[in-house]
Amino acid sequence: MTETIFSKIIRREIPANIIYEDDLALAFTDINPQAPIHILVIPKQPISKLEDTTETDQALLGHLLLTVNKIAKKVGLEKGYRVVINNGEDGGQTVYHLHLHILGGRFMTWPPG
Ligand code: 5GP
Repeated sequence: MTETIFSKIIRREIPANIIYEDDLALAFTDINPQAPIHILVIPKQPISKLEDTTETDQALLGHLLLTVNKIAKKVGLEKGYRVVINNGEDGGQTVYHLHLHILGGRFMTWPPG
């Protein structure tokens, strides 16, 4: 895949407010937050978008969701939160490195825009 700004964040070539890191994943606050708490969870492995994943990514995808769970507890989102994956053009994806948005700290309306 074409490299994105998130690869530079993983390599610490550009700054980010890093919330969590392990061997497989990195989480940092969104530069343009859409809620009081807006954190992005990304795999260190560069996967462009959700639709590119296959059965071989099953463990990694599970790990990313469990990482969301861990981070939500860490930052105190005990009243709930929303997890979003924008996939492709109609999904509103702008950065083509798979990422999960954690949005919280306010009531999330439905349907989304
Ligand atoms: P998408 O629209 O692809 O689902 O989400 C991309 C997200 O990345 C957006 O919410 C955007 O604000 C965030 N973003 C884009 N560039 C940067 C950056 O350089 N640093 C951080 N922390 N977030 C970024």
